[in-house]
Amino acid sequence: MAKIFCVANQKGGVGKTTTAVNLAAGLAQLNQRVLLADLDPQGNATMGAGINKATLKETIYEVLLGMSDIKSVRVVSETGNFDVLPANRELAGAEVEMVDLENREKRLKNAMASIADEYDFILIDCPPALSLLTLNGLCAANGVIIPMQCEYYALEGLSDLVNTIKKVHANLNTDLKIIGLLRVMFDPRMTLSQQVSAELEQHFGDKVFKTVIPRNVRLAEAPSYGMPGVCFDPASKGAQAYIAFGAEMVERIKSM
Ligand code: ADP
Ligand code: MG
Repeated sequence: MAKIFCVANQKGGVGKTTTAVNLAAGLAQLNQRVLLADLDPQGNATMGAGINKATLKETIYEVLLGMSDIKSVRVVSETGNFDVLPANRELAGAEVEMVDLENREKRLKNAMASIADEYDFILIDCPPALSLLTLNGLCAANGVIIPMQCEYYALEGLSDLVNTIKKVHANLNTDLKIIGLLRVMFDPRMTLSQQVSAELEQHFGDKVFKTVIPRNVRLAEAPSYGMPGVCFDPASKGAQAYIAFGAEMVERIKSM
């Protein structure tokens, strides 16, 4: 059975999608069977995996609304060597359309049940909001990976996310836990980065992943080539870090 992880943080631009796509590719390189689910109407994870969001006939939207089977909607990322449950702007409508449906928070969870045994990891790239879409991600998941930049405002907003996760745990998904905080876009030359990083370790202990993802331009360039950074420039520091993070996650699920 796959272990299912949400990459979540309600802030935009903190590295969720970069993490989801590159962790997927890193895990695939470690011979793990991976499905990347794009839960953001921006469709950035879909594009980053090399799939053209504009030409898709069906997306995760149809899956959530119960109009299509998840098995017929998923596509293969040729560049990343993993499967993708793609999204595009159509998904924005689901937020409203799901409200009156039965089990509105568990539609993704229920859809994933039929394919979970085909994968080792399912990664869900969440939108930058604590919305019904994100709730669907949290209800489907065993754990949450929270990417964060080591900057002054890093912890601001974290308590909202932690409270949401606690509520989901209490009311909807007792399985859910925070797997860890991932330090991303890290710049070791900045004293502030090092200070915030040390503070995170102090406060959150082993909930902070050992792997640190550096700021690396190759990771930012890769999406415009429709490739995960891990595949675009495997020797780059960013790619190496995400492969190391993949190895850390493979280790981590052994005790789950
Ligand atoms: P989110 O999904 O949280 O909105 P993204 O993953 O899209 O965040 O990242 C925001 C921007 O930062 C993107 O332009 C992305 O290419 C860039 N970025 C993310 N991680 C890194 C990194 N480690 N090094 C350099 N640029 C990065
Ligand atoms: Mg994103």
